[in-house]
Amino acid sequence: RTLLARIAQLDPQLNSFISVTEELALSQAKAADARRAAGENGALLGAPLAHKDLFCTQDILTSCGSKILGGFKAPYNATVVEKLASAGAVTLGKLNMDEFAMGSANESSHYGPVKNPWDLSRVPGGSSGGSAAAVAARLIPAATGTDTGGSIRQPAAFTNLTGIKPTYGRVSRWGMIAYASSLDQGGPLARTAEDCALMLAGMAGFDAKDSTCVDQPVDDYLAALQQPLAGLRIGLPKEYFGAGLDSRIADKVLAVVEELKKLGATVKEISLPNMQHAIPAYYVIAPAEASSNLSRFDGVRFGYRCENPKDLQDLYKRSRGEGFGAEVKRRIMVGTYALSAGYYDAYYLKAQKIRRLIKNDFVAAFNEVDVILGPTTPNLAWQIGAKNNDPVAEYLEDIYTITANLAGIPGLSMPAGFVDGLPVGVQLLAPYFQEGRLLNVAHQYQ
Ligand code: GLN
Repeated sequence: RTLLARIAQLDPQLNSFISVTEELALSQAKAADARRAAGENGALLGAPLAHKDLFCTQDILTSCGSKILGGFKAPYNATVVEKLASAGAVTLGKLNMDEFAMGSANESSHYGPVKNPWDLSRVPGGSSGGSAAAVAARLIPAATGTDTGGSIRQPAAFTNLTGIKPTYGRVSRWGMIAYASSLDQGGPLARTAEDCALMLAGMAGFDAKDSTCVDQPVDDYLAALQQPLAGLRIGLPKEYFGAGLDSRIADKVLAVVEELKKLGATVKEISLPNMQHAIPAYYVIAPAEASSNLSRFDGVRFGYRCENPKDLQDLYKRSRGEGFGAEVKRRIMVGTYALSAGYYDAYYLKAQKIRRLIKNDFVAAFNEVDVILGPTTPNLAWQIGAKNNDPVAEYLEDIYTITANLAGIPGLSMPAGFVDGLPVGVQLLAPYFQEGRLLNVAHQYQ
């Protein structure tokens, strides 16, 4: 109830929640109390949290930040929602996000922009901007997010949080509304690595309902936190520290490296030679998959339908034309173009080849080092509206995060201090399924 009151008091300024689920929260809290009274004892039992509004929640609006899903109440819970609820977590609501998770600033939401709690004139990052703002403003201790090209790590960096994108396939995507299915992955945002470990333990695991979910035991993330860092080999990619990176962010990142050295880590320069091709490849592959995934929103099956359609074509055209925002339309057009006959080989196939080269770069790098460290973002959180007329400028902000999605490896962003009152994030990357290692390094640093 304290948190519900805090949300009512503070969220009108932040706009981080799309729905507050008071009734559900109170009944879940009561059930958690009863389980505790019966002797049960789990870290998530009674833990308040909220979900990014692309996780399906039964009988509750699941909007994906879009007008086209206006009024859509999912008939079932996403696996992640179900798992956290059965561990006893209490759902306080659904969180604002960029429309269909497309964006890095949380400005493309039909429900309006989210403000960064550290400076209300600035963006909180995106697309999980509502998740980040709500946790950073202490409205909730942890939230779920999703990361297709940085959407957990970049908002975590902009709001002084820890956020982890697991290995592709570690967390079930069932009931998570798809943006780019081969890149999407759910994960937590919280204040500390320890809280992320508790959340991830509750979210990860095999699910037969998602054919890309991997049937492999989930590591003990809590135990992993305690490992000493002596002998840890850290790689600093030389490509990360070139032009384009704010030098004040570079200084913060190198200060973290010095601290980790004091804890026994060794540092080595490495190279990720194909990184320069990551943004063009991602901005072909992600829109291509999105154009296919979003074809189901036709005005018939879900959410918004235009008024008085004169025939079926008119129904499709106007429902989609009126229901999708500008950025989503741009990506549907780019994706449809990239997949069309005659252009497929030149764009989509080429992008897939680059994707393999990027993956190979990481595999080679991890023969030499245990984790890769660098900045999460090239710049600090920008002013709301600053990049609205320049989508490519916003795409360039994803340079450090999207490679992990293209390769499928896990990545974490953790707080690294402040520049001019704005948070800076450091990103750690590890080989497949080494989420425990990432959480370990972040915890030992914190
Ligand atoms: N900013 C990236 C995009 O707009 C990443 C979004 C995401 O991870 N969902 O596609």
